[in-house]
Amino acid sequence: MKTNSFRLVLLGAPGAGKGTQAERLAEKFSVPQISTGVILRAAIEAGTPLGLKVKELIENGKLVSDEDVVAIVGQRIAEKDCENGFILDGFPRTIPQAEALENLLEERGLTLDAVLSIEVNDSDIVSRMSGRRVCKKCGASYHVVYKRPRNGNLCDNCSSELTIREDDKVEVVMGRLEAYHKQTAPLKEYYAAKGLLVAVEGKEELSETSAAVDEALENL
Ligand code: AMP
Repeated sequence: MKTNSFRLVLLGAPGAGKGTQAERLAEKFSVPQISTGVILRAAIEAGTPLGLKVKELIENGKLVSDEDVVAIVGQRIAEKDCENGFILDGFPRTIPQAEALENLLEERGLTLDAVLSIEVNDSDIVSRMSGRRVCKKCGASYHVVYKRPRNGNLCDNCSSELTIREDDKVEVVMGRLEAYHKQTAPLKEYYAAKGLLVAVEGKEELSETSAAVDEALENL
């Protein structure tokens, strides 16, 4: 694996643990984590025009338009802190987004180093999602069993109250899983054909998933 830069995409169903691994890997490789979900939720929270446009889609478990998320990512990866790479978490989610990402990178003479897919079956996803909590202020994600906040129901980073995401409610989760299987899962084949795909099984224990992820990346 290259050590001077690192560009990684994380794939996986909602709740598979992409965000948690992205956060850990971003720290490990000293590159930013770019989570389109976090950026979009922040836009909703701040009531920006983008936030107002996407609120209903997100709360109903539907995907935001390719055009909107590609614009977000295009701007974000042009920022200085992405010079040495990034961990993309939740983008791309469709084939057109993957193609757009390739173009954005190509314009800069860059390529991805790997695409890591975290595999968790649907029934485990549904039970895990009910325990997820999120900080509306800074976007940090927790789980009441697997990744508990240090202090009650408060965020470790900014001490704000943690809440349940509107789209983590069980009826919405089913729709998000459907969107994942229809629109995002085909990306595994897309990236496998490019020789970039690495898959690991997402375990209940965070430390086991982290170990599997580290081993897979070391073998690149
Ligand atoms: P996440 O936090 O990654 O689960 O994303 C939450 C929601 O934001 C998704 O269910 C979508 O509605 C929207 N979203 C995030 N990333 C994307 C993307 N790359 N393409 C389309 N919609 C997205």
